[in-house]
Amino acid sequence: MSHRCGAFLLMALLPLLSAVERPAGLGDVVDVRFWSYPDYTRVVVELDRSVEVEVRRLPADVKAERPERLYVDLPRIWVGRRYADGVEVGDGLLRDVRLGQNTLQSSRLVLDLEQYDRHRLLTLRSPDRVVLDVYGRRDGRDSHPGDASEPLSRLSMPLRSIRTVVVDPGHGGRDPGAIGLGGIREKDLNLEIARLLRKRLEQRGFQVMLTRDDDRTLDLEERTAVAESANGDLFISIHANASPRRSTRGLEIYYLDESHERHSLGVAARENGVPASEVDSLQRTLARLRVSEASVHSGQLAQLVHDEVVPSLRRNHRDFQDLGVKKGPFYVLFMSSMPSILVEAGFLTNRADVKLLRDDAFLEGLAEQIASGLERYRDRESHLASGVGG
Ligand SMILES: [Zn+2]
Repeated sequence: MSHRCGAFLLMALLPLLSAVERPAGLGDVVDVRFWSYPDYTRVVVELDRSVEVEVRRLPADVKAERPERLYVDLPRIWVGRRYADGVEVGDGLLRDVRLGQNTLQSSRLVLDLEQYDRHRLLTLRSPDRVVLDVYGRRDGRDSHPGDASEPLSRLSMPLRSIRTVVVDPGHGGRDPGAIGLGGIREKDLNLEIARLLRKRLEQRGFQVMLTRDDDRTLDLEERTAVAESANGDLFISIHANASPRRSTRGLEIYYLDESHERHSLGVAARENGVPASEVDSLQRTLARLRVSEASVHSGQLAQLVHDEVVPSLRRNHRDFQDLGVKKGPFYVLFMSSMPSILVEAGFLTNRADVKLLRDDAFLEGLAEQIASGLERYRDRESHLASGVGG
């Protein structure tokens, strides 16, 4: 089958359009990106405005040598001929991604499929983008049993053994996170703590996956996709805080919860690069994905980690301060159904905290105690699963 023949029908329209003036008042396509993961391929179309979209499916037409397709119309978006050649994927799930001017008033995103089980559509704000995940068996490999009907069904936590921890060093690359006193950069500190934590988790028999292991920019889509496709059992995101008040300091542990406290909106907005006004729409997305079931486990995990970390650091570092366990609507967590916590290791805008965070002994103690908290959670869950009692 010729690789390009599927693209022909749509592209045939374009020579007609190229002679036409672009109508006024349309939005633009900023970027088209895709990532291939073991279980799915994620396509992201970034736009300069929000759109209401739905996914339609076209069966294959063997006679016309046309593959099965998914398509999404983007109303009042102009793309012109920018993606006329399509974006070749060829990863065993998607053949290619095309984006063309379907009418003068709308563009159409077309995914030519090689395999297909199901898909998931998300529309996200700040920046506005359409995220389309396509799940299927790649290269004849079996997808995970039971996954087909319930993409986010991995919630019966007490019956699962906890093996794999996804450690997520916040920010990276073009996004430095908070910049603190003396120029300390959050992204560097997060990675340093994440690596220390990995070592201590591996010593305890966990498998560890880092969402990034160097100074790279990770889109939120990529960060969550890495976490989900690693089939992680626990997710821990590492951050450091900043405040306009220099005196504010201490360690906070957040967990995802739908009934979040208002004051955590600012933190969520900053850590996710989303304006606080948008966080409530994230919450609605979250509710739709029924992540709330995981938040009970996330709360227990946060408390166990807190109870390991705080007494030990307090004992060894007199200057250490604790701000406790809090609920937060963290964007980076919301697509994941695994128990998830976010550690804010301290405030880069506070002199005493920065001193601690530059102290290797403090960081190693922090990593050791976080690992110990995760171990306690694993042991407790395995006792519950084997009926020994909690
Ligand atoms: Zn951060």
